[in-house]
Amino acid sequence: MEDVIVIGSGPSGSTAARLLAGQGLTVRILEAETLPRIKPCGGALTTRALDLLPPGYEAYCKTHPTQWTFSNGDKAVTVDSPTPYCHTVERQFFDQWLASQAVQQGASLMDNSPVQDIQALPDGYQVITTTGKVFSARYLIGADGGHGVSARLLRLPRAKNGAAVEVEVPVSDEIFQHWADRVEVDIARYPWGYAWVIPRYPILNIGVGSFRPQKLGLKVLLQEYLREKLPFFDLDTMPRILAHPLPYRTRFAPLARDRAVLVGDAAGLMDAFSAEGIYSALMTGHLAARSIAHAALRDAPIVGYEAAVRAEFWTNLRSAIKLSHLFYRSDGLIQD
Ligand SMILES: Cc1cc2nc3c(=O)[nH]c(=O)nc-3n(C[C@H](O)[C@H](O)[C@H](O)COP(=O)(O)OP(=O)(O)OC[C@H]3O[C@@H](n4cnc5c(N)ncnc54)[C@H](O)[C@@H]3O)c2cc1C
Repeated sequence: MEDVIVIGSGPSGSTAARLLAGQGLTVRILEAETLPRIKPCGGALTTRALDLLPPGYEAYCKTHPTQWTFSNGDKAVTVDSPTPYCHTVERQFFDQWLASQAVQQGASLMDNSPVQDIQALPDGYQVITTTGKVFSARYLIGADGGHGVSARLLRLPRAKNGAAVEVEVPVSDEIFQHWADRVEVDIARYPWGYAWVIPRYPILNIGVGSFRPQKLGLKVLLQEYLREKLPFFDLDTMPRILAHPLPYRTRFAPLARDRAVLVGDAAGLMDAFSAEGIYSALMTGHLAARSIAHAALRDAPIVGYEAAVRAEFWTNLRSAIKLSHLFYRSDGLIQD
């Protein structure tokens, strides 16, 4: 029996695995996809996320925007900062690097291993993959994101699902220069959501997301937004549109049970206003690792994880929920 099984190798899972393996625990990561895998994401890392990363992340940052433009159609407000607001990464390679950091600390990583079942044992869990492999561990971390199975299999309350669609548009250097230092967010355009342009050389990541996507037809809205932002762009040559859930919560709910915890998107802990989720993923990875390391010393159930999540950042998430009600219910801040 191993000490910890981590389901999913995104930022939340890899972070927890790295920290636990670094403390000498035996850790196995089971990842559904073949790495490096694609994760639809703007890849904007806010500065508060940087402290939660191991050294070396700089090599994966593509741009360092210092401007935010908030727009509503042709009206816009740009806010400048002397230092970058965020740093952009290509998730495919950034996530692969984070997973490699866990492996460097001694974690075993198996990709192509989708977990399909979890059985409780007297002092741990048995985890079964769709390929028929069976593993067991004293502790379990559900880090399997918006498409994951952990919350359901552990009978923990599942998050609500928003949705986002995005496309990565290759543009000439001349056009890229126009966006190079700027993230644009059209915050007043769609119900309970927004559209964005994030520069990640040599592409522009352009997308539309909503926390209440039912009946919105996000793909059509994305095409409309693209036509407006890049009028020269031939939609027939458009790269594949990728879609992904935005799991979020409006109320705090149990995130742990006995010897198992949920982290990141699997826990539904993204910001319900901005959809920033990488910070939450990294932070819950840290908090889960701390609680499990502590419990493992006594070979006891996990205590303190939920309290730590509440103390560290639920207050911020609650503010985001309030802000989204205030903001998305009105017509936004930029009025005629
Ligand atoms: C379009 C879009 C744009 C976004 N832009 C930003 C942004 O710019 N900045 C930001 O901070 N956040 C952004 N987010 C949110 C951010 O992408 C997520 O919050 C973040 O990826 C969560 O990390 P995670 O590790 O919890 O989950 P994930 O990164 O989703 O990783 C989960 C992993 O689990 C694996 N998995 C799934 N099921 C199983 C299974 N059954 N067995 C084993 N493995 C499994 C998956 O393959 C995946 O590798 C965006 C989200 C979307 C959809």
